[in-house]
Parts: sequence; structure tokens; C-alpha cells
Amino acid sequence: MPEDFDIRNNEIDDNFEETIRPKRFDDFAGQKSVVENLKIFVKAALLREEALDHILLHGPPGLGKTTLANIIANELDVSMHYVSGPSLEKPGELAGILTNLGERDVLFIDEIHRLKAIVEEYLYSAMEDYKIDIVIDKGPAARSVSIGIKPFTLIGATTRSGLLTNPLLSRFGIKLHLEYYEPEVLGIIIKRSAKILKVQIYDDAVNEIARRSRGTPRIANALLRRVRDFAQIKGNGTIDLEITKYALKALNIDKNGLDQIDNKILSIIIDKFAGGPVGIKNIATSLGEDPKTIEDVYEPFLIKEGYIKRTSQGRVATELAYKHLGKSLF
Ligand code: ADP
Repeated sequence: MPEDFDIRNNEIDDNFEETIRPKRFDDFAGQKSVVENLKIFVKAALLREEALDHILLHGPPGLGKTTLANIIANELDVSMHYVSGPSLEKPGELAGILTNLGERDVLFIDEIHRLKAIVEEYLYSAMEDYKIDIVIDKGPAARSVSIGIKPFTLIGATTRSGLLTNPLLSRFGIKLHLEYYEPEVLGIIIKRSAKILKVQIYDDAVNEIARRSRGTPRIANALLRRVRDFAQIKGNGTIDLEITKYALKALNIDKNGLDQIDNKILSIIIDKFAGGPVGIKNIATSLGEDPKTIEDVYEPFLIKEGYIKRTSQGRVATELAYKHLGKSLF
């Protein structure tokens, strides 16, 4: 296994992703209140034969935002169009997408907090009045005309709703936050994926993977897949607790589900900065990572599990972090 193996960035091929991605609300485990609310909004929109209100989904990566957008489109029986926020360079590109939407289609914009300001501003009238301005003709004859687009639902996904501007935020009628998953729910997801992959897995192995997946379905599925490789090569193909523990050790996932980068962050705070407080930029420089990635991807779980505290002066390692690394506070 390479030294810097990272299960979060471990590319899962599209085929696998497609087969295991839930297609309907009934296959989507957990996030109960989010799903219950969405089911009602979808039903109401279908009843009124109107486009569903615009939805903002926020929460850490891998918790099911794209999956939910897909499910919503399926349940509404419309198409989903996927676009990544930072990939839109000019309003014209967005105009092309908007004018091609079918009646009540879903437009999913991933990482919507990274939209360029000129593109974002262009969205406002589309969201509010289903209208956009386009420039016709060139040179001195150029003029802007307003054209109508079909009623649609924008689903925005973001890991950082705090970075969204107020005009954009206020145009979402529905805002939902996704939480990290409890191990029991991850267990359900792992069992479902194992069934689809046609691999046998014991309950104690399911629980072990679930416990070590950082509350994240994407990681649970990625670990399942890697553990399956070990079971096929080193064992008899069935995933039991022993092979699971062996595989997780080889993948550098520790007993509490923290991986190498999590542990590096903790040891940077403790060893280099005397336990903190230390600013996110200093941590990022020591780690050779982008501060935003640390804030979006790594830190929320470490805070939730109580390894790090965020204070006004910076990040502080807790007693739990010291214990975890086998270090003494004094
Ligand atoms: P996000 O868009 O929030 O980064 P995704 O929707 O891409 O996350 O989800 C990552 C993976 O986890 C998908 O492959 C999906 O199959 C799986 N997944 C996410 N949430 C659930 C869930 N609640 N139930 C079952 N599988 C899920």
C-alpha cells in the first residue's frame, strides 16, 4: 500500500459508483428528517404539477448530497443535469445549460460556494423568475434581451454554506443540512452495497467497517471495496472480522477510524504547536494541504469526535487527542 494512501481521495470508478448509488428515497439510509421533509416537498410539487422549490444541501463531502439530488430528480420523474460550480467560467456557459433544461428538470450545481461572482449573479433572475438575459448581435448593434426558461429546480450542494452570499442563500426556499451518519446506519449502507457487490460479509465485519468510516457513506463504501480485495486475495472471498482488521491496518485506518492525515493533523497541533491554539493556515502549511480542504474535509469530523476544539485563537488539541496519540498532556 502506498505510504500516502488516502481512502477519501481513493477514486471510485463510475461504474461501481453508479451501481451502488441509491436511486429512490427507500434505498437512502439515514438523514431521517431531511428525507421526510424532501418526500413531502416532492409530493406537493407533483400534486401541484409545479417545479419543486430550489434546494440547498449542505454538509461535509461524501454524505449523500449528489445522491439525494439524483433521487429527487427520479422521484419527480425528470432529468438531472450535473454541473460543478467552479467549472463555470462565464455566464454564457450557464445560459447554455439553463436554456437546455426540460420542464421541471433538476439542475444540480456542486460546490456552489465556488461559483464565480458573475456567474452567480446571472443565476438570480433564473432562480427567481425563470428568466435570463442574453446578448444578441455583436458590436454596436449588441443588445441584451430577456428570455424565459422552463421552470426548473436548482439543487445546490456545498460543504461551506457560510461562504454563500446572502442574495444566493435567500433564493433557496429549502435549506437542508446533512449530518455525519451513526455507525448503525453506515452498517445498513455497507450491507446493501455488499449485497449489490455479491460479497458475503459477517455482521461483526460490517460493524467494524461502519465504526471506522468517519460517519461517511463514501468512505464506508470505499473501505468495503478495499476490504473485499483483501478477502479475495488473502482469504476465501468472505469478509470476516479478521480479514477486515488486517485490511484496515494495511490501509492505515486506526482503531477509531482516523487515517494518516487525521493523525498527522493531531500530531502537528500537539508536537509542533504545543497543543495549540494554532491557526488553520499554520496547520495547512505543516501538512502541505490547502487550508480550505482541512476545514471542509478533515476538521469537521475531528471536531465532532472531540479531538480538536475551535477557539477564537485557533485550533486546540483536546485531552482525547493526546490520549489517542499516546502522549501525555503535561
Ligand atoms: P456528496 O455529494 O455529499 O459528496 P455522494 O452523494 O456522492 O456525496 O455520496 C457518496 C457515496 O455514498 C455515493 O456513492 C452513495 O452511493 C453513497 N451514499 C451516500 N449517502 C447514502 C445513503 N444515505 N444511503 C446509501 N448510500 C449513500
